[in-house]
Amino acid sequence: MSPATGPVVWAGSKPFPRAARTQLAKSEQRATLNRVTHQIRRKRAVVVGERDDWEELRRAGEQIKTRVLRHLDIYLEQAERSLVAAGVTVHWATDADHANRIVHALVKETGETEIVKIKSMVTAEIGLNEFLAQRGITAVETDLAELIVQLADDLPSHIVVPAIHRNRREIREIFAEHLPGAPDTLTDEPSELARQARRHLRERFLRAKVAVSGANFVVADTGTLCIVESEGNGRMCLTLPQRLISVVGIEKVIPTFADLEVFLQLLPRSSTGERMNPYTSLWTGVTPGDGPQDLHVVFLDNGRTDALADPVGRQALRCIRCSACLNSCPVYEKTGGHAYGSVYPGPIGAILTPQLRGMDDPVDRALPFASSLCGACYEVCPVRINIPQVLTHLRAKAVEHDRVHGRHHLERLVFRAVAKAFDDDDLYATGLGLGLPVAHRVAGSDGIHWLPLAGAGWTKSRDLPRPPQRSFRDWWSDQGLDAAGGGSIS
Ligand code: SF4
Repeated sequence: MSPATGPVVWAGSKPFPRAARTQLAKSEQRATLNRVTHQIRRKRAVVVGERDDWEELRRAGEQIKTRVLRHLDIYLEQAERSLVAAGVTVHWATDADHANRIVHALVKETGETEIVKIKSMVTAEIGLNEFLAQRGITAVETDLAELIVQLADDLPSHIVVPAIHRNRREIREIFAEHLPGAPDTLTDEPSELARQARRHLRERFLRAKVAVSGANFVVADTGTLCIVESEGNGRMCLTLPQRLISVVGIEKVIPTFADLEVFLQLLPRSSTGERMNPYTSLWTGVTPGDGPQDLHVVFLDNGRTDALADPVGRQALRCIRCSACLNSCPVYEKTGGHAYGSVYPGPIGAILTPQLRGMDDPVDRALPFASSLCGACYEVCPVRINIPQVLTHLRAKAVEHDRVHGRHHLERLVFRAVAKAFDDDDLYATGLGLGLPVAHRVAGSDGIHWLPLAGAGWTKSRDLPRPPQRSFRDWWSDQGLDAAGGGSIS
């Protein structure tokens, strides 16, 4: 097992409650997020509603992925055999640093100092661009939204739409300032912005000798890799360069080609609200005279086997990165992705990041609490990951981690005292008898608006009603009723 290394969590990130406060103050960003997530949500609901067998498809997706995770060792070895037979060189990386070193060595071998990249979560997870940049190699993102993020030296905030937090006026400004050759007359018309991006990228595609990709799926029995995308930039990367390096999380393997039938219906409907992806690329090894002649696959662990060892948490590895849980989450909709401090934002990030990295960092320990547990994410997840269940499971782990490391003494003492009082009838009655009259007097006629210390969090956004002068049980006994609620017979 190997815990995740590298920037799954961005350097300098703050725990979610503090980071969220900063993001919530950005009213323009909140408006953009609200508009876009609701738009995608509506589109998804329409295309999902067209399928009478949607629930069966979800169950099929869940079962295929569950089977893969149960027999991951077998499917990975089968995938390796199929890939090698098709002419692919297979590498195994235990963590981010290991994967980065493999990719760097493969690029260095070619003597190239610029590569093109297909949008890939896993290469963001390992911080590949930064690793290569430190060694004199420029990785050019070719997905439009990723390009916007890269040009602005920004961080992605959504799995499918990384620049979701940017509106078109901001994108025009980024292009005007950072896109080589952008005209002075550039407008914020989407077609004009896309034209400028295309012009810029075409030059890079035509001169690139090396491309790096991820993969949505790897078919074990045929050694086929599959990438779905919307713009066609991925297709350019998969056909023009001579060397193609695909970095793939070990959980991306599926048993058979026929299993793609399930996922290629679940994924586009859940992610962009489309019936099918505009571009679905499948490639099986080297085809002489057609596409890259030198193919490499780097299988990455980076904490995945740690997650696999957790019987409750391992279901997070079923994720197909569709983003439906982000788009439906009332917390993500307000805070946006940067508040999660991680490459993986939203509900899936809240359960995946702490499992990949462990609970030692306060940023990871805070993530399972970044949810209202409303369950909207579970309802939309195409592979039925019970995100609320994993969240509560990880919350318990975070609390246990704090206990073992001697944190939150005061909170634990308070809860211990409360537990003792609840356990002892006389103590409870005495506490109420003494406390209520005081609280009643202190509160005043319109309730309590301010509490000190831990109570301050409550009164900052809510009022406490004025406590009654006497407890319910005192009133009850005055009515001549016994503890079971029956009338007194004496
Ligand atoms: S957890 Fe489910 S809904 Fe969220 S990104 Fe993964 S597959 Fe999609």
